[in-house]
Amino acid sequence: MIEITGLQKSFGDLQVLENINMTIKDGDIYGLVGKSGAGKSTLLRCINGLESYSKGSLKVNRVEVNSLNKQEMRYFRKNVAMIFQHFPLMSRKTVYENIAFPMRCWKYDKQHINTKVKEFAEIVGITDKLGQKPNTLSGGQKQRVAIARALVMEPKILLSDESTSALDPTTTQSILQLLNEINKKMGITIIVVTHQMAVVRDVCHNVSLLEKGKLVVSGKVEEIFLNQPEKFRRFLGEED
Ligand code: ADP
Ligand code: MG
Repeated sequence: MIEITGLQKSFGDLQVLENINMTIKDGDIYGLVGKSGAGKSTLLRCINGLESYSKGSLKVNRVEVNSLNKQEMRYFRKNVAMIFQHFPLMSRKTVYENIAFPMRCWKYDKQHINTKVKEFAEIVGITDKLGQKPNTLSGGQKQRVAIARALVMEPKILLSDESTSALDPTTTQSILQLLNEINKKMGITIIVVTHQMAVVRDVCHNVSLLEKGKLVVSGKVEEIFLNQPEKFRRFLGEED
């Protein structure tokens, strides 16, 4: 699904990603952890084509992301959705219109839009909020709206950039559970960027630790928690 080899990314003189090698399989929930500034968001932005890279290869479904032209990129992005810590919802529009927005951009017909909005509102559990404005919702409910909006185009990959960082522990748990259900129900591949080890432990199958632009540890979550490689332990210690 996602195959990254020797990936390098710089902003001017600043090298942000260095020789990144990773494989993310179809249907995986893959954790990407590391301190602030490690390069996690940049790597996600490379995966959905928002950033170009200077060296190496990044293939999604065997297609080199850097090689897509504008039109191909538009279709590519349809398959790679992203959610964030701050859920950029449109405050003047209803929850319904927020969820419908990507489909309106693609000029889908009204009936299809209506069906999909209701289907995904149901999946994320906000059916009773469709007529409300986002500012009347709690943080967890807003994130559910953002997740529904990310999913209406039925992407193959969901990139989550610190999407639970602004939420309290109970709400975080419920959002993680939702991501887990979506992964099972839709078979969607999810990459979870986080600095919270609990998030990795509770929801991810595989994990990589990024340190100053380099991948220092990768593996299965259960093995990593069991064996606790030195670098990983250090990271855990600093977080708790
Ligand atoms: P993380 O998400 O792990 O906190 P980022 O990927 O946001 O890290 O940033 C990694 C490094 O790249 C940081 O040093 C950051 O300042 C730098 N950086 C990120 N985006 C840009 C940009 N558009 N221009 C210049 N530097 C950037
Ligand atoms: Mg970031």
